[in-house]
Amino acid sequence: MTTVCDLLVRADQILTQNPLRTVIEQGGIAITGDTITDVGSWEEISNRYQPVNTLDLGNVLVMPGLVNAHTHAAMTLLRGVADDLPLMEWLTKHIFPVEQHLNRDFVELGALLACAEMTRLGTTSFCDMYLLEDATYSAVDKAGLRILGGEGIFMFPSPAYPNTDRGFEIVKELHAKWKNHPRISQSVMPHAVYTTTPAILTRCRELAEELDLPINIHLGETPTETEQCLKAFGKRPVPYAHDLGLLSPRTTIAHAVDLTEAEIDLLAETGTVVAHNPESNMKLASGIANIPYMLEKGVRVSLGTDGAASNNALNMFTEMTSCALLHKVHSMDPTCAPAQSVLDMATLGGAAAMHRQDIGSIAPGMKADMIALDLNAPNLLPLHNPVSHAVYAATGAEVRMTMVSGEVLYNDGTYLRIDYPALVAEIRAVRDWVRSKLV
Ligand SMILES: [Zn+2]
Repeated sequence: MTTVCDLLVRADQILTQNPLRTVIEQGGIAITGDTITDVGSWEEISNRYQPVNTLDLGNVLVMPGLVNAHTHAAMTLLRGVADDLPLMEWLTKHIFPVEQHLNRDFVELGALLACAEMTRLGTTSFCDMYLLEDATYSAVDKAGLRILGGEGIFMFPSPAYPNTDRGFEIVKELHAKWKNHPRISQSVMPHAVYTTTPAILTRCRELAEELDLPINIHLGETPTETEQCLKAFGKRPVPYAHDLGLLSPRTTIAHAVDLTEAEIDLLAETGTVVAHNPESNMKLASGIANIPYMLEKGVRVSLGTDGAASNNALNMFTEMTSCALLHKVHSMDPTCAPAQSVLDMATLGGAAAMHRQDIGSIAPGMKADMIALDLNAPNLLPLHNPVSHAVYAATGAEVRMTMVSGEVLYNDGTYLRIDYPALVAEIRAVRDWVRSKLV
């Protein structure tokens, strides 16, 4: 007795990231609609199902699509415009001056480039905070990825709004416009403690509770932020955010670098999720988040690239490598940040950051978001341990196939939704515009 399904995927290796962290050799995955219905050996799955289509991927490692837990997609347009500077100088003298001239078309174009980059490098979902976020949603709608996004809320005008009141209205309008989209979800996103007021943060929390949305904020990124917060509000960023009711299971904080152990305990107690951005933190010399202590205390930790202006790539494979290596050398302990923990951050941790239970692993009931790595690539030979390869050896260049919601978005060098040559031409054309806005 066979059951009908839309698609059967066959692969030499399947790294499931299920609760037992099972790896299946000669495996099969049954997909119906946008959801995985069954996973097992190819023999049992192919006997159990009658598929409409079959996708035999051969000698590949199929694994869950990676989740980029913190980025600013459209900042791909600013990649490489200002490097080798500290955060506050980089932000106020180089990034904000260009961003005030951004319009919808540029944001959509930059976000589409980000989607092309992430699709190519095996990321299927991302959390995104930016200006004119509606344009980013349009890019994601076209590109086929999954997003938790939000309009950045500031105490000053942004290209999206003349005042913060209008900013809050935009958050509500975006929620109403996109809430039924199968791949686009919304969060309330105050930018940071140094770009908002207590009243704005309180309003963000109330709006998130009213609409039952997550909250994302940059918090505890640098010692300078801590100093400014102490000076302005008499508290360090984490206690300040906690006193305003912002720390809770609905909140994901990006960076969490300049935190005391007591403040990390507070994250654990409140169920707050952390988005760790090791490469951005290294490049801006912001510091090193105490991830080993967070994991020991049971804080849910995810992994992100941050924007392409401070990384400068949206590559979750190299981010995993950097994460593992950084914490080993910082602690002088090679057992610190083991490969499985780091892979968990980039998959299941990312699901927590996006406040979803249906992504991050290959198991029945999960969304069919997966990628395939070429196991004939020289840097992935021989195969002893797929988790080791994913974290330490892969660069993203081995990704042969990227699938979201059961739909193949990229296959053997070809984008199936994005007109890549046209995108390249458009990006080349806006380079001079970006340069003209640099001070
Ligand atoms: Zn950021």
